[in-house]
Amino acid sequence: MLIEPRFRGYICTTAHPDGCFANVGSQIRRMKDAGAFEGPKRALVIGAGSGYGLASRVALAFGSGAGTVGVSFERPAAQDRTASAGWYNTACFAREANRAGLVARSLNGDAFSDEMKGRAIEAVKAELGQVDCVVYSIASPRRADPKTGEVYGSVIKPLGKPFTGMTLDFHTGALSEVTVEPATEGELRGTLKVMGGEDWAIWISALEKAGALASGCVTLAYTYVGPEVTHAIYKDGTIGKAKDDLEATALGMRSTYAALGLKPYVSVNKAVVTQSSSAIPVVPLYMTVLMDVMGSMGLEEDCAGQMRRLFAEELPKAEAAGGCRIRLDDREMRPDVQREVGRRWEALARMGDGAVVDAKAFRDGFFKLFGFGVEGVDYGRDTDPDVGIVGLVEP
Ligand code: NAD
Repeated sequence: MLIEPRFRGYICTTAHPDGCFANVGSQIRRMKDAGAFEGPKRALVIGAGSGYGLASRVALAFGSGAGTVGVSFERPAAQDRTASAGWYNTACFAREANRAGLVARSLNGDAFSDEMKGRAIEAVKAELGQVDCVVYSIASPRRADPKTGEVYGSVIKPLGKPFTGMTLDFHTGALSEVTVEPATEGELRGTLKVMGGEDWAIWISALEKAGALASGCVTLAYTYVGPEVTHAIYKDGTIGKAKDDLEATALGMRSTYAALGLKPYVSVNKAVVTQSSSAIPVVPLYMTVLMDVMGSMGLEEDCAGQMRRLFAEELPKAEAAGGCRIRLDDREMRPDVQREVGRRWEALARMGDGAVVDAKAFRDGFFKLFGFGVEGVDYGRDTDPDVGIVGLVEP
């Protein structure tokens, strides 16, 4: 079939296998070109289908030579329907890892469930014995509590009072003022349940009980801080509270698993274009400005660049220094970067509602997430959307 992008709001409902393979292939090539580094050799990556989780898996496998078990929740192709981008990304990763002689097992399903935890831990024990690295990189709108079955939703809303700010329709480049009402108590509780540390802690506990954590194992989850203009909607809002909970979980796990020498970290990553970040009000506009400023200063990094730096440079430093927090957003938050972002932000604010800005960089980045607009891909070619994943662990 001919595969074209189809949108519903900020979601693209189709993905192009060739484009996704080209994206992941280029991440892998860059990782190999940057050279091998000494890092974890047996890793479990939870949320490995796209964004930071996928880039972590690529860095660990093709930078550090790690065998990996990856868990993601993606849609396979069905009749007349493409798979999701994360499915194709995983298929490409698995094919390349297989060619490179690296262990790569992938599981597809709900990581919040006890059933998936059990299956993933079985795969870890069978293929890797134990793991010395667990990456927890889930971004999800909902979670069913495994004990009660109750479904919780996560929202990105301010707390206490409404937030009014500028946002960008990256399809058209149009600016508009948006007001987001504050979260209710229930919405805050739901966001903590979905995006806080509870599920991460359940994973670590289940792995430890199964004897699947190697002594001195590192475990990482990811957070974002960002500048003042995003604080009301992010750092000081519902998602920020969930991220505080994630950091408290890291601290708690350090003492709970002291005998094992577990090293939990929360890495503060840079803002990058992913499916999750595209849906946050204000963020696409901030990122449009940020990418331009960081690009012109030669500082721009994508997921792959960030995760290379994390595992090759910052994690070893953090292990030597102790503590639970790693800052990978240092370049984004540099005073000269933020001064220039602030100057341009004010100019945009003066243009105000209805103005149209150049949103091409963000839009291209967004399309690319789904395998569209990727150089070298023949989009006029009849393409089979049904692509298998080598080493997929079937239920
Ligand atoms: P993403 O949307 O690209 O990836 C999310 C991943 O989670 C996918 O692999 C998906 O398959 C998986 N997933 C979702 N629900 C699942 C479930 N129930 N079971 C199994 N897998 C599931 O997101 P991302 O932007 O890479 O976000 C990953 C983490 O990084 C999040 O914690 C996010 O807050 C954090 N972060 C993101 C940014 C950013 O700018 N994108 C910045 C800093 C931190």
